[in-house]
Amino acid sequence: MPIKVLEPEVVSKIAAGEVIERPASVVKELIENSLDAGATQIAVESQGGGVELIKVSDNGVGIPASELELAFHRYATSKISNITDLGSIGSLGFRGEALPSIATVAEVEILTQTASDSIGSYMYLRKGDVVRKESRARPQGNTITVRRLFRYFPVRLKFLKSVNTENSHIAHLVSEYALAFPEVKFSLVLDKRLSLRTTGNGDLREVVNEIYGSELAQRMLKVEQKDGLAKVSGLTSPPSLARSNRNYLSFFVNRRWVRSPLLSRATEEAYRGLLMDGQHPIAVINISLPVQELDVNVHPAKAQIKFCHEQAVFSNVQKAIEGTLARTAIASPKAVPFSLSPWQWQSPRMIMDIEPAFAVAQLPTLELPVLRVLGQLANTYTIAEGPNGLYLIDQHAAHERILYDRILAQWSQKEVEVQGLLQPITIELSPREEETLKASEEFLAEFGFTIEPFGNRSYLIRAIPALMAKANIIEIISVLLDSLASKEGLSSWEEKIAQSLACHGAIRAGQQLSNEEMQELIKQLEQTKQPRSCPHGRPTMIHLSSHQLEKEFGRIG
Ligand code: ADP
Ligand code: MG
Repeated sequence: MPIKVLEPEVVSKIAAGEVIERPASVVKELIENSLDAGATQIAVESQGGGVELIKVSDNGVGIPASELELAFHRYATSKISNITDLGSIGSLGFRGEALPSIATVAEVEILTQTASDSIGSYMYLRKGDVVRKESRARPQGNTITVRRLFRYFPVRLKFLKSVNTENSHIAHLVSEYALAFPEVKFSLVLDKRLSLRTTGNGDLREVVNEIYGSELAQRMLKVEQKDGLAKVSGLTSPPSLARSNRNYLSFFVNRRWVRSPLLSRATEEAYRGLLMDGQHPIAVINISLPVQELDVNVHPAKAQIKFCHEQAVFSNVQKAIEGTLARTAIASPKAVPFSLSPWQWQSPRMIMDIEPAFAVAQLPTLELPVLRVLGQLANTYTIAEGPNGLYLIDQHAAHERILYDRILAQWSQKEVEVQGLLQPITIELSPREEETLKASEEFLAEFGFTIEPFGNRSYLIRAIPALMAKANIIEIISVLLDSLASKEGLSSWEEKIAQSLACHGAIRAGQQLSNEEMQELIKQLEQTKQPRSCPHGRPTMIHLSSHQLEKEFGRIG
C-alpha cells in the first residue's frame, strides 16, 4: 500500500483509544476536569461497570455557553496556551483530548453553568457530533453523562472484564483521588449502591478511615518533610501493618495520582529489614515539587511522569519515611516486630553462606524417614534425629507445605472442610475490596468462606475453611481479596492463592511449640508429596548426615 495520511476520523479513533482504555479512564478524565475546575464536590455514578453509564457532577466553574462546542474539539484546552506553558503545568489536564476522545467512543450529554452566563447550557453528542444543543438551568457547575461506552468499538468491548472488575477499577480510581484531595467531597455510587463518601473536610486520616477502615486509619503514621527538593507528606504504615502486594501504595506528585516504580522503591527501601519477605507497606504519599522539576507530558493518559532529578526525589521520599519509622521505633520498641535477636539464626540459607564447611547434603525428593523430636531451636526450628543424622526443620516452611497440599487437595475434590465461627468476625473493606468480594462470591463460598454484608462496607465472616482456623482471619481475607483482584490472566491462579493462604495460615517463626506439636508437624509433613521444600521452593529442612557430623568432629578423615 502506498503511504497516505489517515482520515481525521481514523486518527481521532486511534487517539481516543489511547486516552480511554477502559471505563475507569473516562472517570479519571472527568474527575480531573472537575478538580481543574476548582470543584469542592464531585459525585460519580456508574452503572454496568461504566459501560452503560458514567456520570460525573461537580460544583466547579462550569463551561461558558460560547465555548461549549469548542471544549469537544481535539486539542482544545483552557489550561495552557503556548509552548512555554508546557514546561510548567499546574493543572491535571492540558492535552485537550479527554472530552473529544470520550465523545468519540460513547454518547455524551453535558449540562453546564458558569457564574457569568444567565442560563446554563445543554448539549448532546453522538459519535462525536453535536446532535442537540439548548439552554437549560442548572446551579453553577458541570455534569457529564457518558452512555454506551465502546458501543461502536466491539474489539475494546470484548476486552473489558466483568462488570464487577470494571467497578473495582472505578472504585480504586475514585478512592485514589479522594486520598489525593481530602478537601474535596467525593461520592461514588456503583449500580445504585453507595460505595464511597468522603466529607471533604481536608483531613487525610479521615479519608483513609473511609477507604481502608478505622484500624488502619488509627495506626498509620504521619510523614512530613519540608526541606529538600521534594516536600513529602502523608501517612505510612507501621511495620506491624503490612500487605501482601503493592496495591496499597498511593503516590501523588503535585496532586497528580501517578504510578511510579521509583517512588515505590524509595518507600520500600525505608522499610528494609522491617518487613518479612513478600510484605509491602501501606502508604499515601504526597510529593510536592517545583513544576519545572517535572515532565508530566509523557503518557497519553497522564499516568506517568518524569522527574528531572530522580535521585534527589528518591532519597527525599526514602528519608522522609525512614524518619517517621525511626521516630515511632523509639517511642514504642514493639513497633518493629520482625527484628531477630542476635543469637537467632537468620535462615537456613544464611547458615550455608557463612559456613561452607557445613555443606548441606543434596536433599533428594525422597520420603522422610521416621524422625524423633529433640527440641525447638530459637522458637523457629525443630531439631530432630533420624536414622542418618540430624535434621533441622523450619516450622513455618514445613507447615506451609502441609497447608498448601491440603488446601489444593480439598479444592480439587470440592470438599472443603468448613468451620463455623461462634462469634462472627467483622471486617471493613475498602471500596475496591468490596467490588472484588462481590465479583468473587462464588469462589469464596467454594473455598469455605461464609461472608455476609453488614452494611456500610462492613462484612461478617461466619465460617472459614477449617485449615485456616488458627490463622489471623482478617489478614487472610485481605490477602485473599488481593490475590483474587489480581488473578485475571493468571493460568495457575488457584495455586497462587493456595500458596498465599498457606503462607499466611502457617505457624510463624518465633512461636513456641511443644514436643507433641512438633512431632505432629513432622508426621503431617511426612504425608505431603514434597516434604523437603515449601510451596515457594525453599527448603523445609536441613540435614546433617552422620557421616558429615563425624567428619566435622574429626572422628574420621
Ligand atoms: P483538558 O482537560 O486537557 O484541557 P479536556 O478535553 O478534558 O481537556 O477538556 C477541555 C476543556 O473543557 C477544559 O480545558 C476546560 O476548559 C473545559 N472543561 C472540561 N470539563 C470541565 C468541567 N467539569 N468544568 C469546567 N470546565 C470543564
Ligand atoms: Mg481534561
